[in-house]
Amino acid sequence: MSGVDREPEFTASIPALRRALVRARAALGRDLPWIGLDDPWAVLVSEVMLQQTSTARVVGPWRRFVAAYPTPESCARAPLADVLRLWRGLGYPRRAKSLHDAARVMVERHDGEVPSACEDLLALPGVGPYTAHAVASFAFHQRVAVLDTNVGRVLARALANRPLRSREAQGLADALLPRRDVAAFNQALLDLGAQYCTATPRCDHCPVRRHCRWRCEGGDDPAPRSAAVSRPQAPFRGSDRQVRGRIMAALGEGPMSRASLARQLSDVEVTRRDALLAELVRDGLVGEGGGRVALSGEDLTRY
Ligand code: SF4
Repeated sequence: MSGVDREPEFTASIPALRRALVRARAALGRDLPWIGLDDPWAVLVSEVMLQQTSTARVVGPWRRFVAAYPTPESCARAPLADVLRLWRGLGYPRRAKSLHDAARVMVERHDGEVPSACEDLLALPGVGPYTAHAVASFAFHQRVAVLDTNVGRVLARALANRPLRSREAQGLADALLPRRDVAAFNQALLDLGAQYCTATPRCDHCPVRRHCRWRCEGGDDPAPRSAAVSRPQAPFRGSDRQVRGRIMAALGEGPMSRASLARQLSDVEVTRRDALLAELVRDGLVGEGGGRVALSGEDLTRY
């Protein structure tokens, strides 16, 4: 038993919410192609894609990615430029480079397999605590809590009815875990947060509403944003992220001269465009030389 579930504030509510979630599991289940898969690589790819992209936008690119690269080794062997092209539409392409780097680490240190230990998962490029726990739980059925923004919101509302610091949220997530079927339980919590306990919650239809403290006790929303688990994303339109995306999309068509790229982004102020291009070069996503630019690893002279 963890310290959190011995606190009087939570002693009654944790077992009741746990039972309600177990009962609601089947009704909460979303039809997503990676759920229930016994393929750690496919699960890892889905979790990296879901880090900063909504579920609906991930399904298509995930299918294409695991079809093209069904194993860490096949991904590690591929040129980074091809991996980046397959990432198109997901945004945040540093994740694609990290996944490619992680695949190489798996080939070098783990016989081409996704490691199962949390500390080995955490040592992979681009894998933080959420992703490591998600892979350990969903792919390897280990008894670890999976805590993302949505789960943090559920815990703040249903269990605490007050804002939670991230360490408190992790303690509650750990204390809430059942002894068996942990992967299905973690999935149910994610599903609840994604479908009912959203920023604007659908409490009238929520399957655990009778055991939700905020619903029963009232008061201000204890998780109006992200329950201290993550920061909300900045607006996309007009952002540096959008301009970087346009540069990556242009280079996805093939190597080109800097002048040609400049023409395609003629509406972007020159200093800003050059600074963002330099950032992509520093991040290892774009290569340059002889007045030409290309996705990283691609032959700059190819037309
Ligand atoms: S009743 Fe409302 S606030 Fe409580 S867990 Fe369900 S959706 Fe969230």
